[in-house]
Amino acid sequence: MSTPASRHHKRPRGEGQWALGYREPLNKNEENKKNDDGLNVRQRIIDIYSKLGFDSIDPADLRGRMRWYGLYTQRKPGIDGGKTAILEPEELDDRYFMLRIRIDGGQLDLRQLRVIADISNDYGRGTADLTDRQNVQLHWVEIESVPDIWRRLEEVGLSTTEACGDTPRVILGCPLAGIDAEELLDSTGEIHEVHDEYIGDPAYSNLPRKFKSAISGCPAHCTVHEINDVAFVAVQLPTGEKGYDLWAGGGLSTNPMFGKRIGVFVRPDQVADVYGGVIGIFRDYGYRRLRHRARIKFLVNDWGPEKFREVLETEYLKEPLPDGPAPEAPRGNRRDHVGVYPQKDGNFYVGFAPKVGRLDGDKLHAIADIAERHGSGRVRTTVEQKMVILDITPDRVDSIVAELEANDLQVRPSTFRRQTMACTGIEYCKLAIVETKAVASNLIDELERRLPDFSDALTINVNGCPNSCARIQVADIGLKGQLVVNDKGEQVEGFQIHLGGSLGVNPGFGRKVRGLKTTSDGLPDYVERVVTHFEDQKKEGESFAD
Ligand code: SF4
Repeated sequence: MSTPASRHHKRPRGEGQWALGYREPLNKNEENKKNDDGLNVRQRIIDIYSKLGFDSIDPADLRGRMRWYGLYTQRKPGIDGGKTAILEPEELDDRYFMLRIRIDGGQLDLRQLRVIADISNDYGRGTADLTDRQNVQLHWVEIESVPDIWRRLEEVGLSTTEACGDTPRVILGCPLAGIDAEELLDSTGEIHEVHDEYIGDPAYSNLPRKFKSAISGCPAHCTVHEINDVAFVAVQLPTGEKGYDLWAGGGLSTNPMFGKRIGVFVRPDQVADVYGGVIGIFRDYGYRRLRHRARIKFLVNDWGPEKFREVLETEYLKEPLPDGPAPEAPRGNRRDHVGVYPQKDGNFYVGFAPKVGRLDGDKLHAIADIAERHGSGRVRTTVEQKMVILDITPDRVDSIVAELEANDLQVRPSTFRRQTMACTGIEYCKLAIVETKAVASNLIDELERRLPDFSDALTINVNGCPNSCARIQVADIGLKGQLVVNDKGEQVEGFQIHLGGSLGVNPGFGRKVRGLKTTSDGLPDYVERVVTHFEDQKKEGESFAD
């Protein structure tokens, strides 16, 4: 019998790390990946599934490999959150898919935006949600339409390849790359290089779990480098040379961890190689035995940054990297790019806030038309479910702001609209327990009505389950969907509340206060009380997280 000491001393079994010889799959997911690489499902979708229909799809493809191309079955309508954990996957599966289109760096031209809008209207019942990782998600997609969707996307240089799955997913980048007067580096070239070298490469398409990346020179740190699996954050050496500080091992979900500085300075021309090294470490040393321990954060946490650096330099790069400085503190207390601000070329960019990221095909067309009428050919998605139109000449700013606002795309929104995010929730997500988008939208309306003068920075992130797709743990008010008991003793949809999470100079995860829960119906009253209390008690210069 094992004593507590021996149990904790050494794990009796391996963690499934390939580099230590554990090549045999230790769970069903690993077995599926070994049986056939996720990337291979593309041809079957084109040749078989799109022709023979939904019922022809092999279950291992349906609930596994389809993700390698951004496809998830959506939740069958009408199944309440209490059944989420009870039903078998096939009972939750609808015959329609969510399709995630990756938008690396959040960069789109108007042709690309219009193609997404057309696909949304033709194949997605007009749905189009902006995610907090700069992607666009469509719903109601049928398998028969997928080849045509890919053809249309690929014609304009977009794809859904590795938008989900155990892969290197979209690479976050600052929407203002190349135009922000205060940016340290324009990371566009590095993002393209990494994308072209690693995305869709079978050598990196079987990772232990998902892999989230960010490469940015944004002075506001808008790509939330602290919570990515790997992040390159622009820094400057005392000599004036610019490059990146390497971070690894951040991630939320259950067991949230902030990324750690690995301590090296990476020149822009080294980013692709270093990225390859980090992703190689993850592929080879990442834990594959248990899904919930398979993110790179567990490895980085166990090794520590020193060992991670040593393995990166000696086994993968075959050369040492110099030490580097830490990034500067972020500019301001908001990381979004909502509002009107000058670019370095004398033009302006205009960031606007659709409510909780919810758009539709017609609205995407309207955005493209408004941008074009005002002389812009470039739009961007942000990491906060918002959008930015670039390159507006000074004389056209007032008119574009007016046109956007007339379309309910607010350029000067309330704090509540600006800083509230919501994940997909029970409307489409099979893991969800509660409704999110509609609840968050109603919350915004109510708070704007009740607290019209509130203007401090305050993030409210609404999640439909204990996962953290909308980053609950780093919000001022994080709301985690669960069933709660109301006044009448009935089980209803509601939220566990996390308070005081933050990123930046003093990052911290929100405190889960025991017993602090609200029903969805009671949410506006609850948040109003919290905000009013904060306003009454706060000292000069104090933020909510303080
Ligand atoms: Fe679905 Fe949960 Fe993620 Fe929301 S947080 S999108 S409910 S998995």
